[in-house]
Amino acid sequence: ATPTALLVGTGRGAQLGILIKGPEVLESTRRIDTVVLDKTGTVTSGQMSLARVVAAEGEDATEVLRLAGAVEDASEHPIAKAIAAGARAQAGALPEVADFANLEGLGVQGVVDGRAMLVGRAALLAEWSVELPAELADAKAAAESEGATAVAVAWDGRARAVLVVSDTVKPTSAEAVAQLRGLGLTPILLTGDNEAAARAVAAKVGIDEVIAEVLPADKVDVVSRLQGEGRVVAMVGDGVNDAAALVRADLGLAMGTGTDVAIEAGDLTLVRGDLRAAADAIRLSRRTLGTIK
Ligand code: ADP
Ligand code: MG
Repeated sequence: ATPTALLVGTGRGAQLGILIKGPEVLESTRRIDTVVLDKTGTVTSGQMSLARVVAAEGEDATEVLRLAGAVEDASEHPIAKAIAAGARAQAGALPEVADFANLEGLGVQGVVDGRAMLVGRAALLAEWSVELPAELADAKAAAESEGATAVAVAWDGRARAVLVVSDTVKPTSAEAVAQLRGLGLTPILLTGDNEAAARAVAAKVGIDEVIAEVLPADKVDVVSRLQGEGRVVAMVGDGVNDAAALVRADLGLAMGTGTDVAIEAGDLTLVRGDLRAAADAIRLSRRTLGTIK
């Protein structure tokens, strides 16, 4: 869905690939001092791929991947799509899943070939008292220190493998962060992903402040908390899980490459999904205000 779009700065916004919902949006840009950036799909491409499978002692990596892929095939999450595609490539056709459930911000569950599967964060497995054996805990730590996401697979009360899913930082993100800083804004990286992966991505783009392991429903509370500290907050996001935070923020910027829900929630849409347009938007609207006055 496209918001009823009005173009800023007499067509300049359109040239820059920025759609704005209404002129009242511009006013907030004057006071913004903090910009909260969602990680996956905003700072990174969100084009995830399966990098490797580390199986626990005695497990067959291809078989674990086939079963995990079958559960993830029922999910729309970018991590799930990467795992399902990787599973098809390595194991062929995927079996059916029964009793599927998506556990937002944690992973998925379902029954495949009679096995009750859990696929997701270590925290999801922990809810069922399933711990990672040393070799899988090591694989998880190694993956996270390089900025990748470690997805654990378990059934029958035992962890079977860690699937390493990697994303790439968009080539324009570091420059965009530098431009946002140049406008006097403090960037903060916000994600549901783990702290180590978030730190690795933050370091690549020049962000010092990271708020990680935030459940989807809690992103909006992070924005409120920052506002409670007296900050005026712009939020940039792409996902369904960012929508409430985009609405709460003083200025919500949605990635045009993201979900319709995020685009509806944002005050501005960055049509091309290039984070540099966030800096362009703030600069342009401040300039437009300057000329209106
Ligand atoms: P982000 O805030 O980075 O957009 P999400 O809130 O959607 O991420 O997810 C947070 C974390 O939950 C992911 O990094 C991943 O570890 C885990 N997760 C979510 N959905 C899935 C899934 N379908 N399969 C495996 N892990 C998942
Ligand atoms: Mg996202």
